[in-house]
Amino acid sequence: MERSQLIKGLQTILGADKVLDDKLDMLSYSYDSSFKARNNRYIPDVVVTLTSTDEVSKVMKFAYEHNVPVTPRGAGTGETCGALAIEGGIVIDLGGWDVIEEVDAENMQVQLRPGVIHADLNKYLEAYGLFFPPDPGSSQMCTVGGMVANNSSGLRAVKYGTTEQYVLGLEIVLPDGQIITTGGVNSRAIKNVSGLNLTKLFIGSEGTLGIVTKIRLRLWPKPKSRGILMAVYDDLEEAPKTVLEVYKAGILPSGIEILDASAIKAVNEYKPEIALPNAEAILLFELDGNPASVEWEGNEVTRIVNTRAANAEWSTDPERMAKLWQGRAVTATAAARLRADGSRIFAGEDISIPLNQVTESIKRIRALGAKYGIGVVNYGHIGDGNVHTAPVINPEDPKEVELANKLVDEIHLTAIELGGTTTGEHGIGAVRSQYARQEHGAALDVMYAVKKAIDPKGIMNPGKLLPKEGDNKDVSTSASS
Ligand SMILES: Cc1cc2nc3c(=O)[nH]c(=O)nc-3n(C[C@H](O)[C@H](O)[C@H](O)COP(=O)(O)OP(=O)(O)OC[C@H]3O[C@@H](n4cnc5c(N)ncnc54)[C@H](O)[C@@H]3O)c2cc1C
Repeated sequence: MERSQLIKGLQTILGADKVLDDKLDMLSYSYDSSFKARNNRYIPDVVVTLTSTDEVSKVMKFAYEHNVPVTPRGAGTGETCGALAIEGGIVIDLGGWDVIEEVDAENMQVQLRPGVIHADLNKYLEAYGLFFPPDPGSSQMCTVGGMVANNSSGLRAVKYGTTEQYVLGLEIVLPDGQIITTGGVNSRAIKNVSGLNLTKLFIGSEGTLGIVTKIRLRLWPKPKSRGILMAVYDDLEEAPKTVLEVYKAGILPSGIEILDASAIKAVNEYKPEIALPNAEAILLFELDGNPASVEWEGNEVTRIVNTRAANAEWSTDPERMAKLWQGRAVTATAAARLRADGSRIFAGEDISIPLNQVTESIKRIRALGAKYGIGVVNYGHIGDGNVHTAPVINPEDPKEVELANKLVDEIHLTAIELGGTTTGEHGIGAVRSQYARQEHGAALDVMYAVKKAIDPKGIMNPGKLLPKEGDNKDVSTSASS
């Protein structure tokens, strides 16, 4: 369809004020937070800013009829080009649809529209003593719709799990414009095993199966107390051992974070006043719950940690906790400043490894960094094996970019080889689908079948999540077993 006809058609359906088509607007919608988006421009033909299910349905019907690709977008904080119009067409911006429709506190749930910002939701829920636990680092920016689409989580996933644990039902506009509700049309049930679990199918589908227009979330009571323990290790190998010993003692911290020597160095160079101890690794444990249990668990974790760590400090004092946490809070920014002429790139940044392979993965990534002559900062959620790797390069130097791409490929392959996955939080988008066959084996064919059944014309966020059929045919034995 000609661009001018596309714009005219959408203006007729929606009115001119909901349709953006000027060059500058298109340019701003060609970015997310990925490295790939930094180096490539994916310009949409047109953007529509929608705030009702009826509008979304009308746009999808129009796109379906005319075979126009459609890309849903929340806040555009994704790291994988997910919200970018790789094949052109329409971007549907849902970021302005930020309505919390109903807090049903008696049933511990909330109904909201997809554009609500994560941090705003939890602020709103404070009055009810409830919260939505997943906690991405992008909490102040990202939308709950984007979190559902990416099944996002954060450092507290170790105890509270990911977004999928909290989604009770979804309203979805399908590629042909049909509207469905998953999880029961009128259900307020928390527990529900009725029918195929379509809710789970749409969670993490990265906008490739339909558009999330309403979300019913389960809420949890907000813990009354928390404490932080910082443990310093002279030997990297000892850190994961402690993590297991804490679990074996029957304690489930709300977060367990690691900074390896590279991250400690980066933090100290960026903010010398934080003065992290020079060490091979630092672990940060966060414990939450009622005050008495937090105190007891804090003492117990301190006892366990002290058998392996060089030293440890436990605190429930808010000021001291903020200080202990400071190093972790600035790690991502610190990595970015490691080189005056460099930037931290969001590529190969999100591997997830079995707990007993975390040390091995960090060692291998260090060796890969040395092989390609690229500084890599390692940190992340050691409690669930989600290691964040931050290569630091000069992104303007084509040679460094080429080497970084090779490094990132090897990081992804290392994750698979160690029995992990290329992504624990950020998703596949347009940057990791080449590993799908290796990761999923024959299950990938079932994914294609599901995609075809729901989106037979392939207009829903094309170029994302699944590799083009026929690409990457070889099935590795380990992946298909
Ligand atoms: C500084 C920073 C820190 C981050 N930290 C974390 C972290 O700790 N954990 C984590 O998981 N992620 C993290 N991220 C990645 C990102 O913020 C999350 O994936 C987030 O949930 C994306 O939300 P968004 O609204 O920005 O979605 P977008 O980037 O706009 O879109 C992401 C994907 O969702 C699809 N989508 C968006 N809205 C809808 C909808 N309504 N219906 C269907 N599909 C939709 C898009 O098509 C795209 O595929 C971080 C990003 C940054 C920049």
